Amino acid sequence: MVYGQTPQRTPLPQPAAPTRADILRGEYGRYRANNDLLFYHLDVRVDPEKKVIAGKNTIRFKMLTDDTRIQLDLFANLNVDKILMASTTLQYERELGAVFVDFPETLKTGRTYSIDFYYSGTPQTISRFGGFTFGKDPAGRPWIYTACEGIGASLWWPNKDQWRDEVENMQLSVSIPNDLVDVSNGKFVRKTDLGDGYTRWDWMIHYPINNYDVSLNIGKYEHFADKLGDLPLDFYALPEDLEKARKQFAQAKGMIEAYQHYFGEYPFKKDGYKLIEVPYSGMEHQTAVTYGNHFANGYLERDWTGVGISPRFDFIIIHESGHEWFGNAITAADVSDMWIHEGWTTYLECLYVEYRWGKEDGLKYTNAYKSKVRNQQPIITQRGVNREPPQDMYFKGALFLNTLRSVINDDKRWFALIHDVFQHFKYRNIMTEDMVAYFNQKTGMNLTPIFDQYLRHAALPVLELKFDEAAGTVHYRWKADEPGFAMPIKVGAKDNWQILQPTAEWKTMKTPLQQDEFAVATDLYFVNVSKE
Ligand SMILES: [Zn+2]
Repeated sequence: MVYGQTPQRTPLPQPAAPTRADILRGEYGRYRANNDLLFYHLDVRVDPEKKVIAGKNTIRFKMLTDDTRIQLDLFANLNVDKILMASTTLQYERELGAVFVDFPETLKTGRTYSIDFYYSGTPQTISRFGGFTFGKDPAGRPWIYTACEGIGASLWWPNKDQWRDEVENMQLSVSIPNDLVDVSNGKFVRKTDLGDGYTRWDWMIHYPINNYDVSLNIGKYEHFADKLGDLPLDFYALPEDLEKARKQFAQAKGMIEAYQHYFGEYPFKKDGYKLIEVPYSGMEHQTAVTYGNHFANGYLERDWTGVGISPRFDFIIIHESGHEWFGNAITAADVSDMWIHEGWTTYLECLYVEYRWGKEDGLKYTNAYKSKVRNQQPIITQRGVNREPPQDMYFKGALFLNTLRSVINDDKRWFALIHDVFQHFKYRNIMTEDMVAYFNQKTGMNLTPIFDQYLRHAALPVLELKFDEAAGTVHYRWKADEPGFAMPIKVGAKDNWQILQPTAEWKTMKTPLQQDEFAVATDLYFVNVSKE
C-alpha cells in the first residue's frame, strides 16, 4: 500500500478507545486461536449487471483445542445464505462483522474439519482503494476489482479476517460473463465455459496468503507474457493501454533482479509474477500486483521524494512489488506491526535505487523521506484492536533501517543479515519481537533499545553536544526515551568520521574542531542533534 498525499502537519488526534467492532476484528480471541487455517476455496459468481456477488468459501482448518465454536468474519451488509459441514446445516450467530459458527458436537484437537460458507449480496465500494468496485473502464466496459487492505477482506468474502493465521494454499474460482477476463492471485489453472453465458476462471495459490491480498480484477484485459529465467511474468492491461503497458511494465524485470540480489529468489515462483492495470494507484496483491500509476515514472507523475531520483523509475511497480518479499512472504501477525510491511518495503525502494544507481543516490533517496516524517506517534500501535499505525511506519521505518545499517557499520555484514532475515522469516507471520530477537542473535549485539526507541516512541533520539572551545573538548550524550538507549554514531569531519559510543551519561572527548565545523553523520543515522 502507498500513501497518496503529502503528510499533513496538524497534530494527530489521540487514538480513541477501541470499539466492540475493533475488538471483534482485531483480537485473536478464543474462537480464532482454537483453530489453524489450512485451506480456502473461494468460489464466487460476479454479476456486473445486477452488481451482486454470490458464492461460497470452503474453509478447512485444524483444531488446536477442543471447542464447539469458531469465529469467521463477513461484513454485516452481506447475507449468510447457509453454512454446512458435509450435509449438516450449522447454526451461527452474527455480531457486527463477526460470524460465530456453532457445531453440534465438540471439534477435537488435532482433527481437520471443513465447512462450506455460502453468502451473497452487494459488497461496499468504500475505503481509500475502493473495497469492492463495480466500475467501468474509459470505454464503458465493466471493470470490477477489489482492494481491501485496512477495511478487511470480509468486506467481500467470508474468512477468518485477521493477520496472524493464513491458509497454506488457496483455490480461487471466479465466474463472470464470457466476454470478460478475471485476473487473480496464483497460477492460472483453466477457464470453463459454464454454458449460461458465464465462464469460470480457476486460480491456484500454492503459498500462504493473507486475506487482504486475495483479489479479483475483472475487465476486458489483454495479456502479454515474459520470463525472468524460469519465472513466468504475466501482464494485463486494457486494449487501449497495451503499448504503454508493454513499455512501462518492462521495469518489472529489473525490479525483481534487484530484490533477488538482496533477498534471494522471488518467493512465489510456482505462482509467477503478475502486474495488472487498475484505476486506483496500486496494491500489493500477492503475485497479482495491481497498477494504476499512469504508465509514467515517479508517483502519479510527481517526483515523489523531490530530489530528482523518483522520476527515474515507476514508483508503484517498485514499491508494490517489493511487498512480495515484505508484506506477502513475511507478514506481520497484527496490524499494529505493519511497519514490517511498509517500513521494509520503503527501504526496499532505497535498495533498488542503490542497486541501480549506487550508494550515494540510495542515500539521497532515503534521506529525502525525512521531509515526510512527523514523529508524533510511535510506529507500533496497540495490539489486538485492529489499529493501523501512523504513516511514519513507511518513511521513518525506512530511515530507521538505514540507521541500523550504520550501526552494523559493515555493508557486507548488513546485506548478509537482511538476506538472512528474509530467508528466516519468509512464509511466516511475525511480530517485531521476533525480528529483534533474530537481529540480536545474528549480530551478538543488544539492538533492542534501538528498535524500541524508533518503533515504540514518537520522538527521535537527540545527540546532545556541549562544546568547550577553550579546553578543546566536546561533551556528548544521548537524550532518548528508552533508558538503555546507546547507539554508536559517526561524528567529526565528513571525510574522516570517528565513531562515538554515546550513552545517556555525559562523556567528554578532545576535538580540534570548532562547534560549527563539528559534523554528525545525519545521512547515515536518523537522529536530531543539539549543539551548545
Ligand atoms: Zn506499501
